Amino acid sequence: MSAPIIASVGENGTNIKADVIVVQTLLNSAGAKLKADGDCGSKTIQAIQLFQKVFMAMPDGRVDVNGSTWTKLLEGKLKIKNLVITPKPLILLPQVCGLGYYTYSPTKNQYGTKDTINAIQQVCLQFKIKWPGVEVGIGDISFQSGALMPPHKSHRAGIHVDVRPLRTDKKNKPITITDTAYSRAMTKALVECFQSHANYKSVLFNDKEIKGTKFYSGHHNHLHVSFKA
Ligand SMILES: [Zn+2]
Repeated sequence: MSAPIIASVGENGTNIKADVIVVQTLLNSAGAKLKADGDCGSKTIQAIQLFQKVFMAMPDGRVDVNGSTWTKLLEGKLKIKNLVITPKPLILLPQVCGLGYYTYSPTKNQYGTKDTINAIQQVCLQFKIKWPGVEVGIGDISFQSGALMPPHKSHRAGIHVDVRPLRTDKKNKPITITDTAYSRAMTKALVECFQSHANYKSVLFNDKEIKGTKFYSGHHNHLHVSFKA
């Protein structure tokens, strides 16, 4: 018998270790071949998605407490059909000038899926046309290996990108929304560029005046932009 989980597991989940082990164990019963180590990496998320594909049109990669995925896992009737779990290879964000962005985290932290890297470049070029002379600061994305990148819980599958809010003085420096040099107008325009991209999924950011962003503890000095997997 499986212990119930106390919080969500998977993509953007709470991912408490004991819960992850329970979900990994149930996924293995459904045919996945995961190490039940409590570490919710890209393989576990893909296994959740593959399991969901059996009964769900739009797998979200997450097992919610008492949600349909949890119920089906616990029932133990459905089996994963396609067992091939191949994490998408991650490529490096080109470390170059002149494309509308600069980087503010180590090179080893800036790997993303091809689609995500393309989206970052397209959005930054689009923004560069609207606001010449302003560069967008790109921070942590993922490690090439997809390994855990503390303090982040996500940032493993190459689809989450930290981005600096923009400054009225256009300097390539840190900024928080309470600083006088914070530019709501430019940051709002940047968020809109991200939101209009076909691969855009969500933004966590704490300036409540910018529509379509979600408040999340710690996100007063960066935007956490997520793209579709
Ligand atoms: Zn982030």
